[in-house]
Amino acid sequence: KLQLLQEQKGKESITADGKKVHVYANIGSVSDVDFALDNDADGIGLFRSEFLYLGREDFPTEEEQYQAYREVLERMNGKKVVIRTLDIGADKQADYFNLPEEENPALGYRAIRICLRQPDIFKTQLRALLRAAVHGCLAVMYPMITSADEIRRIQKIVNEVKEELDREHAAYQVPEQGIMIETPAAALISDRLAPLVEFFSIGTNDLTQYTLAIDRRSEILDEFYNPHHEAVLRMIRMVMDNAHKAGIWAGICGELAADVTLTEEFVRMGADELSVAPSSVLKVRKEIRMAHALMDISSKYDL
Ligand code: PEP
Ligand code: MG
Repeated sequence: KLQLLQEQKGKESITADGKKVHVYANIGSVSDVDFALDNDADGIGLFRSEFLYLGREDFPTEEEQYQAYREVLERMNGKKVVIRTLDIGADKQADYFNLPEEENPALGYRAIRICLRQPDIFKTQLRALLRAAVHGCLAVMYPMITSADEIRRIQKIVNEVKEELDREHAAYQVPEQGIMIETPAAALISDRLAPLVEFFSIGTNDLTQYTLAIDRRSEILDEFYNPHHEAVLRMIRMVMDNAHKAGIWAGICGELAADVTLTEEFVRMGADELSVAPSSVLKVRKEIRMAHALMDISSKYDL
């Protein structure tokens, strides 16, 4: 079986009837790039940037971040790298952030909420990202979005960062920018959000958690945590449709993207990208190459 998967290396991620579906890798550190390359990923679809902030005493500097992002971009050699901005809080804590103790941290002060409330932290990361963008094919995505207003606030901060870099005559480029769709709010207003961004990446881990009202880390609730729930799959379908109506691409980067029992379903829904653990890249590519994109979608998830 492993032998058969090795045969997928060097092949295009394209369906039996000719639709290109990028198979990207999820990584959590610079060294993970090795695994992505070993498994012949078409790019990086989710680089969890938290690793730069965790397990240390103080914030990483702009220079440290710039070097890390640049290294990943250079090693991916022109292939797309989607870096997600800081998604700290909830289960990922770092003492020096001095985050408040909360009853329900998953519903609390985390991710983009911290970045918007403490723009200095956000700006340092954005400066590093815009500067690194000249070294490869970078896309940036923002986590835990729930509203159009958040996107406008992000855009305002990105513009301030651009002005700063212009004044300093620094070398930079504005990367492609997208959002994670991982809250039911974002999924339900994805028609309004799509014109404001360049892509959607669906985070099925959190989308399942928030849709089913089930803590994704709770072992007691394991039997109820069902990412195949029709509510989740309908939202995925809806998000894909709204992305394509607005002319942007949409992918999936949560665990569900690697579930090969759904690959053909995702392809028929119009998924442009599936981003999975490096060890699942070849398995998903194999499934895509056997799938037919253009058949009628089963009406199961029609709205
Ligand atoms: C998700 O929520 O599906 C996701 C990809 O992000 P994370 O697992 O890092 O929350
Ligand atoms: Mg998430």
